[in-house]
Amino acid sequence: MVGGALSLDLALLAELGVFVVLVLLVVPVARGLGELRQAIEAMTDHDGAAPLVRSASPIVTELWIAILRLTRTWRHRLVEREAELAATLAVLAALPDPVLLLDQRRTIVRANAAAADMFGSNLVGRDLAAVLRNPAILGAADAVLRGDGERNVELTMNLPVERQFSARLAPFAANVDGGAVILTLHDLTATKRSEQMRADFVANASHELRTPLATLLGFIETLRGPAREDRDAEDRFLTIMHEQASRMARLIEDLLSLSRIEMNEHVTPTGRANLRHVIGSVSATLEFRAKARGMRIALDLPSDLPDAQGDPDELAQVFQNLLENAIKYGREGTVIEVTSRLPPRRDAAAPLVAIAVRDHGEGIAREHLPRLTERFYRVDTARSRAMGGTGLGLAIVKHIINRHRGRLEITSELGEGSVFTVSLRAATAEAVVGREGGDGRSSSN
Ligand code: ADP
Repeated sequence: MVGGALSLDLALLAELGVFVVLVLLVVPVARGLGELRQAIEAMTDHDGAAPLVRSASPIVTELWIAILRLTRTWRHRLVEREAELAATLAVLAALPDPVLLLDQRRTIVRANAAAADMFGSNLVGRDLAAVLRNPAILGAADAVLRGDGERNVELTMNLPVERQFSARLAPFAANVDGGAVILTLHDLTATKRSEQMRADFVANASHELRTPLATLLGFIETLRGPAREDRDAEDRFLTIMHEQASRMARLIEDLLSLSRIEMNEHVTPTGRANLRHVIGSVSATLEFRAKARGMRIALDLPSDLPDAQGDPDELAQVFQNLLENAIKYGREGTVIEVTSRLPPRRDAAAPLVAIAVRDHGEGIAREHLPRLTERFYRVDTARSRAMGGTGLGLAIVKHIINRHRGRLEITSELGEGSVFTVSLRAATAEAVVGREGGDGRSSSN
């Protein structure tokens, strides 16, 4: 009996011992975990600073260190992702093409600056249909949302002038603001216009060549057939054929000049042109043509006229075309005046020199002025052709002046005549300072 009671006491003692040991082990861990929870909560609430956890339990301390390391890694990644997102948004904002991100319900969830410029601000949250009322675009957006894949649509918008766009709608996989479709608009107006201009140009050039060619063929047929033995007719026809062939040659020459100049238009010529010399020799070569109409070219250019920055041959072509026009469209017996003037100085470091060619002709109605330098644009086609014009002279002038980064100004008064003023960069800075006409002017012709 005594032995049984003793073993019971020992068992109780052992259990008590285990309990004490457990309490000694578990209590600090439990207390430490409580502190850990508070620390984590404090860190979450105050977003950042990690409080100090100094637990009696080494396990809790190790756990805390691991948690801190994990937090640091995640913070680092977050900063990286935020930087990436900021860079992506900056790229999106800088895109010149409007971009809209739509969610599953076609609501705009993001828009870049170009889109805001085009459709106005406050785009986010609006239905695409309220911004772009175009059935083809809306249909394409729905198709992409149904999972039909990328769609491309061409559309015309009046914003406020008519512009053509190509729209690309593609599925958007990245998980940003619930975006499901990305819509990009690309302005095709300039491309379409240049395609149209190219097509018009080819049509115009072919038309211009076809007429003299048809005349030539007709006369060749006549000379081989009905007029075979007719010496008089032969002489007359050969004269006309020569005129027509010359017209074609002029046209081809002008077309080649134009394409040559256009090819180099982006390169500013670096040479130097003595304008008095250039204009003087052009004027001398045209003297006979002017005389044939009882006209005279009066040059009134100062001896200290600054040189122009540019290509003398191209500038000679500019003044040749302007003087030829003055001879063609000026009234018989009148004087063509070539003068220099100091244009308003836009920039003291880049002075200009301006030359004006004035004729006394019928003048040009105001509505034609903006279009005169277009290829093949003529006020009176029949008259231009009769005068041997190709309709390309002023287009060549404009392109050469563009290449020289200069300006062409046309003013005209009906019944009085026209003035074509060419402004070019002067080759030296001091050359034009403090002088405007008057002294040292020379006059020829
Ligand atoms: P064209 O070979 O027909 O003269 P341009 O390109 O030189 O071609 O000129 C285009 C049109 O501008 C001419 O057809 C003419 O109608 C008008 N024009 C050009 N210069 C003058 C001028 N000095 N006076 C009146 N009209 C002019």
